[in-house]
Amino acid sequence: MPVCPVQPEAFLTVLVFVWGACVGSFLNVCIYRIPAGMSVVTPRSHCPRCRAMIAWYDNIPLFSFLWLGARCRHCKTSITARYFGVELLTAVLFLAVWLKVGFGSGAPPLGLAPVNALRLIPIYWLVVSGLVLATFVDLDHMIIPDRISLGGIVAGIGLSALVPALHGAETVWPALLRAGAGAAIGFLSLWAIAWFGRLLFKKEAMGFGDVKLMSALGAFFGGYAVFFILLMSSLVGSVIGVVLIALQRKRLRARIPFGPFLALAAVLWILWGPVWWEWYVNLLLPPEMTTF
Ligand SMILES: [Zn+2]
Repeated sequence: MPVCPVQPEAFLTVLVFVWGACVGSFLNVCIYRIPAGMSVVTPRSHCPRCRAMIAWYDNIPLFSFLWLGARCRHCKTSITARYFGVELLTAVLFLAVWLKVGFGSGAPPLGLAPVNALRLIPIYWLVVSGLVLATFVDLDHMIIPDRISLGGIVAGIGLSALVPALHGAETVWPALLRAGAGAAIGFLSLWAIAWFGRLLFKKEAMGFGDVKLMSALGAFFGGYAVFFILLMSSLVGSVIGVVLIALQRKRLRARIPFGPFLALAAVLWILWGPVWWEWYVNLLLPPEMTTF
């Protein structure tokens, strides 16, 4: 039998990267259109300056941006590098989720937490896409639209019923219970922080969109994930906040959107969560109590 020159795993991995870039290209459209209340399907994309329709061959993710030298083919207006950045970021995140499968040798690279069911991969891709979307809309407009956050709660509970493995469960009811509890814990924890924040600082410390986004993450990943995401996002958020103030990029009382930090922490949970959780529990409990 002739040996195939390309390993099927390598081929699939390249395909996943390309697929991620395509999804990133669609997310660019969503980031622009969803806050404006526009349809994400029609009309076709056009140049915001000269209104010329963008042909399919000028709309190839990652490639067209480089090929056209970051300019519109017709009016030569420069295209922001963020389009390229969102496509690359989404492609890399899709790839990282895919690598959790761990081929051949068994253990995934980069210490990624192995995935316990292949069906979880498309769900992780969906969540990662939603988080990229929420991050850039929040950076642009300081809001997280309900279509993302409330949609996320509904999707999280629905997908938990469809794929109980999302919560490490075998049947529907325990998975639904964990999804519901996660959504409630997510909502209440961040709502309480927002409430105390308002009491302490006499201003809006956190938007209600963040509360709903955390609830969606709880629905997808359960209560432990909420705990991790809360700790990690506050930690990274305070460090970045202090750095921005020190560099005088933000004034002390300026509001920094919190959504991107929630999204970052959630991605870290998806990629490495169980590994960190085990480390954390080992840290807190004496060794004889940690039986997994
Ligand atoms: Zn143009």
